[in-house]
Amino acid sequence: MLPGPVRGILTTLQQQGHSAFAVGGCVRDSLLGRPPCDWDVCTSARPGEIKAAFPGKSLSAPGVRHGTITVLLEHIPYEVTTFRTDGAYSDHRHPDSVHFVRSVSEDLARRDFTVNAMAYSPASGLIDPFGGARDLAAKCLRCVGDPARRFSEDALRILRMARFAASMGFSIEPRTEAAALDQCSVLTQLPVERCRAEFCKMLCGRWAPRVLRGQRLLFAPLLPSAAQTSERAWEEAVSAIAAAPDDLCVRLGILCRVVAPGQLAPLCPDAKTARTATLLAECAEEPLRALPSVARRWLHRLGAETLQKLVRVQAAFAAARRDRAKQSELVEFAKTLRRALENGACCERAQLAVSGEDALAAGIPAGGEVGAALESLLDRVIEGTLPNERAVLLEQLAAWGAGIACEQCTLPESL
Ligand code: ATP
Ligand code: MG
Repeated sequence: MLPGPVRGILTTLQQQGHSAFAVGGCVRDSLLGRPPCDWDVCTSARPGEIKAAFPGKSLSAPGVRHGTITVLLEHIPYEVTTFRTDGAYSDHRHPDSVHFVRSVSEDLARRDFTVNAMAYSPASGLIDPFGGARDLAAKCLRCVGDPARRFSEDALRILRMARFAASMGFSIEPRTEAAALDQCSVLTQLPVERCRAEFCKMLCGRWAPRVLRGQRLLFAPLLPSAAQTSERAWEEAVSAIAAAPDDLCVRLGILCRVVAPGQLAPLCPDAKTARTATLLAECAEEPLRALPSVARRWLHRLGAETLQKLVRVQAAFAAARRDRAKQSELVEFAKTLRRALENGACCERAQLAVSGEDALAAGIPAGGEVGAALESLLDRVIEGTLPNERAVLLEQLAAWGAGIACEQCTLPESL
């Protein structure tokens, strides 16, 4: 079950007389039959001994204070951490100190959930002092030790719990769930960037709807408006998330219908995503009629990427409401939009067949009037009353340049 480099790290450390194991998420994911995203190693070797065991290898030690040395093998970093227990927690997030210990079980005891508190080596097999394999088989998330104490030590574990439930589809053991609810007000004391990462992973999880339904109040300290939304509106948004793809921005846009944008923004990965999510929520109920000019108008307003997300947001709400008419309208709109994009439909000033220089050459005075003339041309091209053809647009510019007011411009006969 171990990749070659990890097996190599374990063997090297063991040959020096240390014990060493793959640990945590990689053991959990391997037992679940999923490819782990990273492999962590824990060992009885102290940081100096870890370094000494890998002479000539590329090492870095940004986490050495907590006993972590990163070993680079075949361009992949592996974190190798000395067995440790955590000292007291005074900020609900970081242990004030860590103590290196000699036994793997002591190290496993500091870990958050039983399914994350297993270690494995080919020499010793599975080390599972807290029943992680049993909980894995039962699809159950359970704190290692007393849940109230574990969540008060580090409140981020509350969001990790929600994230694991949403990504793995696990249920939460009742005492663990009750303690999380009881302690969740401490979430506001955590640095928001830590919450953000867990929250976004949670929202993209396949089982996110189940968590949002079942654990809504867990998020109330971070998103007070989530607790104030009516049951009906919340349920509709959750059903829409269930019908949506696992696109973070689309799901944030749906959520933004039922939580205040100002509260959601700090949980978004960046300001642009927050703005897009707000815009998607604002436009969620607007009609999208399947006409080329309507598609071009929307492209002008939102840009292709955001407009495609809006179609997904609207389709998700339509599915949640079982609104067949709206669903088929959106299918038609998506086709029209695709055709507009394939044909390179003109929706921005930069795509016009004429430029500001052409406007100046046509005698339109420099300054705001050039921009206004181009905007006016773009408006007509989007509407479909003028084609985006250079000769036609030049003729129009020439007419305006000759001093004819826009309103009085007559369209060329040929149109
Ligand atoms: P992922 O699949 O996201 O990598 P993971 O379980 O591996 O999930 P990591 O953040 O990589 O999560 O942490 C590695 C291991 O360290 C966890 O499996 C767990 O044993 C332990 N751990 C991480 N964060 C905490 C925490 N806040 N409290 C206790 N143990 C933790
Ligand atoms: Mg991991």
